[in-house]
Amino acid sequence: MEGSAVGGTKRLPRSETPDLHGAFPRLSDAQLDALAARGQRRSTSPGEVLYREGERDCDFFAIVAGTVTMVDGYGGPAERVHFVHGPGRFLGELGLLTGRPAFLTALAGDHGEVVAVPLERLKQLVAGDPALGDLILRAYLLRGSLLIEAGVGVRLVGSRYSPDARPLREFLARNRVPHTWTDLERDHTAEGLLRQLGVSPHETPVVIWHGTQVLRNPSVEELARTIGLPVPTSDEVVWDLAIIGAGPAGLAAAVYGASEGLGTLALDGVATGGQAETSSRIENYLGFPAGLSGAELADRAVVQAEKFGARFSLGAEATALEELDGHRLVRLADGRAIRARSVLIATGARYRRLDVPRLEEFEGSSVYYAATEIEARMCRNDPVVVVGGGNSAGQAAAFLAAHAAEVRLLIRHGDLGRDMSRYLVDQIERTPGIEVLRHTEVRELLGDDSLEAVVVEDNRTGERRRRDARSLFVFIGAEPHARWLADQLALDDRGFILTGADTRTDADDPLWLAAGRQPLPLETNRPGVFVAGDVRSGSIKRVASAVGEGAMAVQLVHEYLERVGGDAAGRVAPVDRR
Ligand SMILES: Cc1cc2nc3c(=O)[nH]c(=O)nc-3n(C[C@H](O)[C@H](O)[C@H](O)COP(=O)(O)OP(=O)(O)OC[C@H]3O[C@@H](n4cnc5c(N)ncnc54)[C@H](O)[C@@H]3O)c2cc1C
Repeated sequence: MEGSAVGGTKRLPRSETPDLHGAFPRLSDAQLDALAARGQRRSTSPGEVLYREGERDCDFFAIVAGTVTMVDGYGGPAERVHFVHGPGRFLGELGLLTGRPAFLTALAGDHGEVVAVPLERLKQLVAGDPALGDLILRAYLLRGSLLIEAGVGVRLVGSRYSPDARPLREFLARNRVPHTWTDLERDHTAEGLLRQLGVSPHETPVVIWHGTQVLRNPSVEELARTIGLPVPTSDEVVWDLAIIGAGPAGLAAAVYGASEGLGTLALDGVATGGQAETSSRIENYLGFPAGLSGAELADRAVVQAEKFGARFSLGAEATALEELDGHRLVRLADGRAIRARSVLIATGARYRRLDVPRLEEFEGSSVYYAATEIEARMCRNDPVVVVGGGNSAGQAAAFLAAHAAEVRLLIRHGDLGRDMSRYLVDQIERTPGIEVLRHTEVRELLGDDSLEAVVVEDNRTGERRRRDARSLFVFIGAEPHARWLADQLALDDRGFILTGADTRTDADDPLWLAAGRQPLPLETNRPGVFVAGDVRSGSIKRVASAVGEGAMAVQLVHEYLERVGGDAAGRVAPVDRR
């Protein structure tokens, strides 16, 4: 990857970037011809801008002759060249398919020739040509990781100790938005940058978009709106199905709901993908023998659901569920509300926190509950500690071993195979960079500004030792995201939502007397409110089972809507992408 500043378009490098990890494949002549038949073949002039960063819904471009250079910060002092493409390659990022803005500007090099295809025509073409569709989608997914690595996109400047910065960082990371984080506490250039922008440190965190647009301490919703992620819609529309939580269960329901004609809205407080998105490699999902990352699974599912007409709304945290005029009303943290004829709760679970002093102090900087490329980048060549004995901890340790200087995996008991799949145990035992510390628990966190070491204790002997750790990864079981529903829905004693016969609905409950039935499987103690995935009492905490329940829930929603009468309205409101 080339990353040097070029100071304008005159000195653009002309050598083509190699096909990094398969992100820049070449189209065959037949594919170029098929694209040309749907679009327009035209010549380009040197320095011509084919599209700019920030632009969305632009044409799809394939290069016939000449080169195209991809830069960020085009025209500004920090302009950087990232990739150079030659004949047979195509341009674009995943956002082209999902309506998000481009992160790079495409500049034609010499006198060249391109095929430009309007987006709608491209979609028609790939619908009839799955091989081409898959080639483009796969390349776009891979390009996402390259953009994240390259540090293009949004720039977030703030203090690691700021409670306002943390949700913004999480939102950008979980949504796989390419970005850079500048820590006021560590980066000496940060103050100069703020001065240049006329921002005082107490106005941080600030988000810088396209080098010039500055948001001072924005809300997650404001950030989402600025960078073109779908944000909450108004409550004037009545959706057939509102899905709360867009992890695997919610995504599956979005695909099945929309493909079966239901007006479907899926909302998530943070991002699509849920816990699975934080998994670096899911090895046991049917049909993917080489495994796939949770982020890729989520991105593919979103493209698929949107293809069928599902809508997404991110940064939309549900805080209450009510009834209004026979509809379900889901209230959101930002004060808005969503109306729907049926609701699927797919809010999953989140990892438990360690009970150790000073945890909160280090949570913004050195303690993580996910191990994706973003976290790996933060702890490159550092010693790290992973806590937990289940598959998530095992996966994290195996993944981090390729990035960190050393990985110590702490388990409370003596048998790594007790709660972890055999393949992971084997992998960990084969990896020289991982040391497993059995019968070991974290007792103290040491460091000033950021974590430097942990004190661990052998829980049989009480012996304590210091272990270097710049990052601590915690995977110690999950707690359900259902507290906000406690006064509405029946929960089990651990806070998971009860469904079907388990709700033990009274025979004379007026709600069910009026309905003339008992709850369907996956239906809660409130008619028309269903549950799928990890948040359901008795669920199996796996991607496949969450996906299966999401699909099954849609079938039950149909049954419910048929019973209450009225056809599936399919009233779809445009998502506000201002
Ligand atoms: C690191 C890791 C590795 C894993 N590896 C594997 C694996 O290899 N194989 C496997 O089968 N399983 C694996 N799992 C488990 C698997 O990811 C989960 O079982 C699965 O994601 C559950 O899906 P879900 O849709 O039910 O919930 P979740 O994935 O938890 O998604 C719930 C979503 O709901 C959102 N949400 C929560 N509350 C609200 C609210 N009030 N309003 C709006 N949105 C809300 C959350 O932001 C989240 O996006 C792993 C989990 C982790 C953490």
